[in-house]
Amino acid sequence: MSQHGSASRRGRIQTLAIFVALIAGVFVGQQLHDPLDSQSVGAGWLLAGELFLLRPLQMIVIPLVVVAVVHGIASIGDPKRLGMLGVLVAAFYLGCMLCAATIGTVLVETMRPGAGLSAEESSRLLALGENAFRADGARMDRLVSGETMGIGGAWQSIVQQLLPKSPLGEAAAGNTIGVIVFSIVLGLGLAVGGERTTRAREVVDGLFHALLTVIQWILWLMPIGLFCFLVGIVGRIGLGSIAGPVGSYMLTVLLGLFIHGFLVLPLLASIFARTNGWSFMWSVRRALITGFATSSSNATLPVTVRECTTHGGCSQRATNFVIPLGATLNLDGTALYEAVAALFLFQLCGVDLTTGDLVIAVLTATLAAIGAAGIPSAGLVTLVIVVAAVNTSLAGRGVEKIPLSAIGIIIGVDRLIDMARTMVNVWGDCVGAKIVTRLAPDDAPAI
Ligand code: ASP
Repeated sequence: MSQHGSASRRGRIQTLAIFVALIAGVFVGQQLHDPLDSQSVGAGWLLAGELFLLRPLQMIVIPLVVVAVVHGIASIGDPKRLGMLGVLVAAFYLGCMLCAATIGTVLVETMRPGAGLSAEESSRLLALGENAFRADGARMDRLVSGETMGIGGAWQSIVQQLLPKSPLGEAAAGNTIGVIVFSIVLGLGLAVGGERTTRAREVVDGLFHALLTVIQWILWLMPIGLFCFLVGIVGRIGLGSIAGPVGSYMLTVLLGLFIHGFLVLPLLASIFARTNGWSFMWSVRRALITGFATSSSNATLPVTVRECTTHGGCSQRATNFVIPLGATLNLDGTALYEAVAALFLFQLCGVDLTTGDLVIAVLTATLAAIGAAGIPSAGLVTLVIVVAAVNTSLAGRGVEKIPLSAIGIIIGVDRLIDMARTMVNVWGDCVGAKIVTRLAPDDAPAI
C-alpha cells in the first residue's frame, strides 16, 4: 500500500476511534453520575484524561511556540510585510470576536433563558448559586480578584507580558504571549541575518518537522484522553442538569456557537480564503476535537499547527504566525459565551437592560475574551469583568447591582460549555490561518 494510502487509513481509524470515544464517554459518564455525590465520580477520570492527553500536549506547547513562530517569521522575512500581516490578523481577530459577542447578545435577548421566573424561583436559584460560589473557594478567590482587577488590570497584565523581562521566566510560567514576542524578535533576527544565519534556520526547520511528528504520536492518545475527560465531566455534571433556566442558558450558548462555527466562520473562509468552509472544517477536525477534549486552546496549539499545515492546506508561514497568536488572543467562542452568560444572569435577577448596557456587554465581552488565557475556565474568571462593567453602568442610573455570587449558578455546568466554546476558539484560529495563507503562501519567495 502506498504511503499516502496507509496515512489516510490511519486517519480513518483515528476518526472512528474518536467518535466511539465520544459516544462511549457520554454514555459511561451518565451511568456513573450520582446526583448525591457528584464530586467523587469525576476526579479519577479527569486525572486520567489529564495524563493521557493534556499533559503530553502541554509538554510541547512552549517548545512548539518558539520553533513555529521563529520558523514562520524567519520565512516571512520582511518586517514591513510582517507588520501588514500583523495588522490584518489583529483586525480579523477583533472583527470575529465582536461578531461572536453580538450573536450571543442578540440570541440571549431573543431567547431570554433567564427571564419570566417567579420571584421565589429566582431567589432559589440565586441561593444555590451563592452556595456553589462559596463552596468553590479557590475559584471564588480568582473571581473576586478578577473583579478587583477589572478591564484595566487585565490589559495591564497583557501589556506587561508583551515586554517580557525574561523569555525563560515567561516560558516557565506558561505565559505564551511573552514567548511569542521573544520568538518574533528572534525570527526577525534570523531573517535579516542572510547567509550567516542559514544554518540556524535549517536547524529550526528540522526541529519544527520533528515536533510535528511528536504531535502525530500524541494524537494516538486522543481517543483515550477524550473518553476519560467525557466520563469525568458528564459523570460529575450529569445530563439531568441540562434542564430549567440553566439548561435554556446552555442551549442559547450552544446555538450561538453553532451559528458562529457552522455559518459565520465558514462564510468568512469561503469569502476571504476562497475555500469550502465546511470541508476545511472537516480537514482540521482533530484539532477541533482536541480543543473539545482538553478545554484549552493553548494545549491544543500543537495539534492545530499540525492539522492546518498537513490536512488543512494552510501554509507554514501563515500557520506558524497566526495560530500561536490566535490561541492566546482570538477566543471567539469565549466572547460569545461571556455575553450570553452575563446577560443571562441579569435576566435571572430581573434587571432590565438598555441598548447602551447591551453595547457595553458586547464590547467588554470582546475585551475580556482577549484577556482570557487559552486554558480551562479562563472565560469564567474574566466573565466577572463583563458583569462588573454592566453593574457599573446600572449604578450610574441608580439601578441595584447584581451580586457577583450569581455566577455560582453557572459554575456547575461551565466545563461542558467550556468544551464547546474552546472548539470554536480553535476553529476561529484555523480560519484565520487559512485566510492568511492566501497572503503568505509557502511557495512565494522569502523577502
Ligand atoms: N477554555 C477556553 C480556551 O482555552 C477559554 C475559556 O475558558 O473560555 O480557549
